[in-house]
Amino acid sequence: MTLRVAVTGASGRMGQAVARAVAAEPDTELVSLVARPGSSLVGTSAASIVGDKRCAIAVSDTLDLQSTDIVIDFTLPESSLVTASACAAAGIPIVIGTTGFTAAEQAELESTLAPVARCQAANFSMGVNLAYRLLSLAAKVMGAESDIEIHEAHHKHKIDAPSGTALAMGRAVADAMGHSLDDIARYDRSAKREVRDPGSIGFSVTRAGEIVGEHTVLFASEGEQLEITHKAGSRDAFANGAVRAAKFIASKPAGAYTMADVLGLS
Ligand code: NAD
Repeated sequence: MTLRVAVTGASGRMGQAVARAVAAEPDTELVSLVARPGSSLVGTSAASIVGDKRCAIAVSDTLDLQSTDIVIDFTLPESSLVTASACAAAGIPIVIGTTGFTAAEQAELESTLAPVARCQAANFSMGVNLAYRLLSLAAKVMGAESDIEIHEAHHKHKIDAPSGTALAMGRAVADAMGHSLDDIARYDRSAKREVRDPGSIGFSVTRAGEIVGEHTVLFASEGEQLEITHKAGSRDAFANGAVRAAKFIASKPAGAYTMADVLGLS
């Protein structure tokens, strides 16, 4: 059966990549592509965005869930919260790729979505989700003897920092070592003149050009260093993962599913 997918963020980099991925899959159909109200794309044909002349829908500014099996949302936190409410009210599952939620927004998102199946991930690529597992293993084996630093690089348009993926990597490492990331993360070392805090995880960030997304976690111990690096070559890595997640959760009961569930890593 074909899965009918609505995609938000029609003018966004990820929204467009997801729309292309949905249209390209034989068992998914793009039934709705939603732009924010006032966008110049509203009313235009989605065919040019997805690169397929057979796509007959026009970009809309309203999320109509009547003939929709699932929604994929990569937009902004405030817009994702509105979309999540609509999905919960209509009993429609949702895949959320938006990052940068505050703790309060994240709590609101989780309680809003309690009645439906949902998959939220800071990074939908296969490689990054596998990296979480590798990082957990590395942290268990050499974390206690290592200085751990996480560096991430993204394009100049990204507004949240460190990236959701860098934070998720930090959490994978901290959890494996029995700590809370909040207690051991160091985001800024400019305020104090002191040597490195043992047991901390340092974060550094690059914002430049059109870098799609690079993450490196360094474990530096006496006499050796281990680096685990992931580089995304294009947004298709995230878009394809989001579509895979949509197919996985579409017929699942209400609940929070992770990319580890989707990839069989749980
Ligand atoms: P972007 O700025 O290119 O796009 C965001 C889009 O959301 C904009 O086009 C904006 O018009 C649109 N939008 C805002 N309000 C809307 C509304 N009410 N209805 C419809 N559209 C609305 O950003 P991007 O690079 O596409 O990234 C979007 C989000 O996805 C960010 O939070 C980013 O960090 C995240 N992201 C997640 C992953 C992942 O794998 N989880 C990967 C890449 C990016």
